[in-house]
Amino acid sequence: MAGNIGADKIHSRLKRYFDQRQLKIALPIKKEMHIIDYKSSKYKFRGDELEANIQAMMYSLASKKLWPKLKPIIKFLFLRFPKKPTQELSFNDEQIKGFEYYLEHINEYINNFDENSAKANFAVDSQKNKWMCGIGSWVCPYKAPYDYYVKINQSGEVIETSLNNDFKNIDGFKIETRKYEGCPKFNNKQENSKKDSFLD
Ligand code: SF4
Repeated sequence: MAGNIGADKIHSRLKRYFDQRQLKIALPIKKEMHIIDYKSSKYKFRGDELEANIQAMMYSLASKKLWPKLKPIIKFLFLRFPKKPTQELSFNDEQIKGFEYYLEHINEYINNFDENSAKANFAVDSQKNKWMCGIGSWVCPYKAPYDYYVKINQSGEVIETSLNNDFKNIDGFKIETRKYEGCPKFNNKQENSKKDSFLD
């Protein structure tokens, strides 16, 4: 069962998500909260994109937290489809709760994710995924070492990174060059000795 601390954190993040999305309308109608999100995209949602729409689930969960007695109804209004602009979605309480547990699980996973977790799941170690390291002329962008730039504020915190040192508004900030050592599976002698020859 999901713990309360995770749930509280998710609640406040959802509220921020709601605020940042600058929803045009959240409209109470009888026992429902109609949430209307305007879309300017060329395509409507299709298939899974529609059925299990993460954005709609986020809205529904946030709505349930903010207005627990009202059933969330999510309406995407596609401005480029004036004849039939609306795609409407709603989820039952069980589905919304399930989504909340899923977010808590992801939240916990990310919070506990460290170097060891990352090293435990390299694509090159899996028959199924090793193509991700390179296939044809395509090569994983994290395979080789490279230099990059960081923008640092006066408290010493990195607030932006760039491959091209093309930061805007750098007054009062420090710019430093950093080195990415490349994927350890291909750039570490110890790891290299264990590497499968498949990708040589
Ligand atoms: S090169 Fe390294 S980082 Fe990239 S997919 Fe392969 S194992 Fe992962």
